[in-house]
Amino acid sequence: MTLTIGPLRAEPGRKTRGTIPVDLGITTVEIPLVLVNGSCPGPRIVITGGVHGGEFVGIDAVTRLAGFLEPDEIAGQVVICPVANPPAVYDGRLGKSPLDDVNINRVFPGDKEGGPTERLAAWLFGNVISGADAYADLHSGGIDETLLDFVGYRLTSNEELDGRTRAMAHAVGYERVLYGRNAEGGNSHAAAAREGIPAILVETGQLGERHPDQARNLLDGLYRLLHHLGVIEAPQHVAPVSVPPCDWVWTGSVVSPAGGLWYPDAATGDKVTAGQAIGHVIDPADGSEHKVTATATGQILYGMNGLTVAPGAELAAIAQPGD
Ligand SMILES: [Zn+2]
Repeated sequence: MTLTIGPLRAEPGRKTRGTIPVDLGITTVEIPLVLVNGSCPGPRIVITGGVHGGEFVGIDAVTRLAGFLEPDEIAGQVVICPVANPPAVYDGRLGKSPLDDVNINRVFPGDKEGGPTERLAAWLFGNVISGADAYADLHSGGIDETLLDFVGYRLTSNEELDGRTRAMAHAVGYERVLYGRNAEGGNSHAAAAREGIPAILVETGQLGERHPDQARNLLDGLYRLLHHLGVIEAPQHVAPVSVPPCDWVWTGSVVSPAGGLWYPDAATGDKVTAGQAIGHVIDPADGSEHKVTATATGQILYGMNGLTVAPGAELAAIAQPGD
């Protein structure tokens, strides 16, 4: 079956690379896409990188994957969007778009009549994500965030779907698999889950780092995922999984009680207890101090590295092994 997205098309047995102009109202962006249409039929897998700026490892890994995948070694179709949000990736290098200060991963499935970032989300969701049999979205900690690698997914009210999604999340081979208890919100993988698409989030790397070994680890994870989904044969060169994946659940999020300077007493990776002091925020104007405590018991999976924080900024996300 011909694989078509906008003006790009790939016949069976062909790989097509190109860009598609997307009208965001105030400007037009060029969205890069790689369509790999296998010689044999199979599922359509969609992988996005660069939904956020400043998160480099996923963009690196998925661009390598786009170069390596050959149509005659594939059953099904792989659609790769290495830079889903060019304004955030190239200009701001932040989670929010410099076009309108909107975090695109809070507004999926988007709005065709909305602001520029909502329009971009609507285009990506309608043209790239919606046709998927399985979807993976690649992220890192932001340039001001420390993070332990994990794979995330959301539970829905559909147990059969949740089982397939969980198996995908485990197949990546990362030690921590985090599930959220519902599929609410504007994250791309949550919106996809609400449409019945098995969808995962992979988080790897932090602080704007771009180590080649992290990209290679993620590439291995993507090969494992594609093998699990029946798209490729077991690749010989992929490292075996060293620590078997374990299910974790989010237990709490800690946000800044005020704008000011953040001085953490607990680091990402530390185990904390609900109510424990994990740092303080100091008002640089009057020197007053706001104590910050853990909202839950568990391990800090990602945390704020930046000194300056706005009121409500996420300072730590806490999770623990689940059932
Ligand atoms: Zn992100």
